[in-house]
Amino acid sequence: MTGDRTRERPDFERRGGGVIGSIGSLSLQTGRRLFDLVLPPRCKKCGALVVADDALCAACWSSLTFLGPPWCACCGLPFEYDVGADALCGACIASRPLFGSARAALAYDDASRELVLSFKHGGDESLARLFACWMAAAGGELLHDAPVILPVPLHPWRRIRRGFNQSAGLAAALARITGLRWDALSLERVRSTPSQGGLGRLARRENVRAAFAVRHSRRQRLAGRNLLLVDDVWTSGATADACIRACRKAGAARVDLLTLARVL
Ligand SMILES: [Zn+2]
Ligand SMILES: [Zn+2]
Repeated sequence: MTGDRTRERPDFERRGGGVIGSIGSLSLQTGRRLFDLVLPPRCKKCGALVVADDALCAACWSSLTFLGPPWCACCGLPFEYDVGADALCGACIASRPLFGSARAALAYDDASRELVLSFKHGGDESLARLFACWMAAAGGELLHDAPVILPVPLHPWRRIRRGFNQSAGLAAALARITGLRWDALSLERVRSTPSQGGLGRLARRENVRAAFAVRHSRRQRLAGRNLLLVDDVWTSGATADACIRACRKAGAARVDLLTLARVL
């Protein structure tokens, strides 16, 4: 993973490498436009022809449920009516979550599932860009305090088998469009756990208990910092809670959660 490298690279390299970079990116853009003339852009979900790259057709777009205010000030659960910007949902009033705030861009439903799963198993970088734009829009207020973006890690064996960590893909794309630093090295999955699919809420919590830790050598990087944990789908919150506990143990000041989709 290349998380910290973005900060270490000199400015000119990040902007594209000066004159040579500009010429390079110009010829890349020209090449891409020519390529688009041959192969016009297609909807990322259904494959219908669309006018722009990295886009969905109107039908697929309108099938998705984008989340936005009015919502719970803490967890981002959508409200039917606006009850004030600081209003909390029943669950957050009953028991304040471990995260500072949480936001999700989409409802995880029949319409979004296919899109989310195709990214999980395909790792399409242009989909990551599209998703990161949606996440930045939904989680705008979580980005203000310049948090370090941390993806939920996969166990190394699972990452090798799948070849891709979808959360790291989203975190990298989000870092690219926001200019924030991301760090895929500090938080690690120290215990391989069976998939959470099909497990109930309590079983999920038990499954991921003590599965995550912050590497001892990198604890200083997170101590006192605001962190933004990034994941693809927020289901029961068990995985996020286990990650947040590990970050808090390493001294993180505050941990917010931003996901692409959320089970409502
Ligand atoms: Zn479509
Ligand atoms: Zn809430």
